[in-house]
Order: sequence, then C-alpha cells, then structure tokens
Amino acid sequence: MAEQDGGGRAGPPPGLEQLLALQELDVRLDRLRHRRAHLDERAALEALTGRLEALDVEQRRVAEERSALLARESELESETAAVVARAAAIEDRARGGAASSYRDQEAMAQEVEALGRRRAELESLELSVLEQGEPLEAELARIAEARGRLEPELEAARSALAEAEAEVDAEAAGALARRRELAGIVPAELLAEYERLRARLGGVGVARLDRGRCSGCHLALPATEVDRLRHAPAGELAHCEQCGRILVP
Ligand SMILES: [Zn+2]
Repeated sequence: MAEQDGGGRAGPPPGLEQLLALQELDVRLDRLRHRRAHLDERAALEALTGRLEALDVEQRRVAEERSALLARESELESETAAVVARAAAIEDRARGGAASSYRDQEAMAQEVEALGRRRAELESLELSVLEQGEPLEAELARIAEARGRLEPELEAARSALAEAEAEVDAEAAGALARRRELAGIVPAELLAEYERLRARLGGVGVARLDRGRCSGCHLALPATEVDRLRHAPAGELAHCEQCGRILVP
C-alpha cells in the first residue's frame, strides 16, 4: 500500500520536522531558564542579602545586650533612690529627737553610715553598667553605618538583576512565541508523547537518525533496523530501540 504514497519512499508521519524544531526551542528555553536561575547578578544580590541578614542578627544581639544593661541600670537607680530615702528618713527621726538613748543614736548613725556605703557601692555599680554600655552603643552605631552603606549596594544589585532577568526573558519570549506556533502545527498526540518522553529523558524527546546513529543517545542502530525504518509504512512513528526517543529518519 506504500506504493500509493506517490510511489516513492514511504514518508514519516506529518509534523516530525516541526517537532524537531520545537525540541530545539525547548532545549534553548531550558538553557535560558538555567541561565536565569544562575545569573551572576543573582549570586551578587544573594551575597549582599546575606551580609544584611548577618548585620540584622548582630544588631539584635547587641540591642538585647544593651536593653539588659538598661534594665540593670534602672534597677540600680531605684535601689539607690530607696537607700537615699531610707537614710533621709533616719536622719529626720534623729533630728526630731526620736532616739531616746545614746545607744539608739549610735545605732541610727551606724545605719546611716551603712546606707551611705551601700549607696556608694550602688553608684559604682551603676557607673560600671554605663561603661559596659558604651562599647555597645559604638557597636550599634557601626552596624547602622554598615547597613547604611549596604542599602545603595542592594538597590544597585536589585536593578542589575532585574535588568539581566529582563534580557533573558526577552530572549525566552521570542522562543516561546515560535514554540507556540509549532505546537499548533504538530499533531496533539505526537506532541503529548514527545512531552512524556522529554520529561523522562533529560529534556530530549525526539531525535534524528543521523548516519545510522540516534542523535538522542548517540548509539548506532543495527543496519537492519536502519533499513526497516527507511522502509517503514507511511505514517508509522519510529522510536530509537536504545533510548526510546521518537526517531526521525
Ligand atoms: Zn536513541
């Protein structure tokens, strides 16, 4: 019956040449997707974002340390205030003649003296807390400054990435438009089989038979198989015996 097909060589099913062109576009689109995901500009932005995150972590740590010191400082302040008030109250009572005996007077004087020592102790603690806070303030200022320098760098890196992405996207848009055209020409069933094979076989679902070799797996087909493919009935879809890809004779 092949003789009715114009009397010449039996032709492969329609749409195979278009499918090969579509496969080429898919490979190109895959490369573009890969390029888009691995842009140098993306790595540069990620590095800067990483630096910003590290600064944020440092800032939080120092700020926590500083707020612990501030809490300690306000504790010391209120304890000092209590000591001062207590000493003043005792002195008031002493002046008001509350001490009935010399021993009471002596006891009051001793307590005021002890409170005075405690006050000096508290004030010295407070001073040391303030001193501990100074390097933290400096650290926070340094972090804020580093953040300030990083912001414009981030801004520049973001727009560089957007530009590089747009360039890849523009190239992909052209390939996608052409692919859509081809996908409209290739018979739906053939296209579906191609997609299945492509998903399973590393992105390549159709190959050409080139000098007895499958261009998909690069293995030579047995001569008898090549001969059979060449003389296959019109419309019969061939597959590579070795890799299973659609084969275009
Ligand atoms: Zn093959």
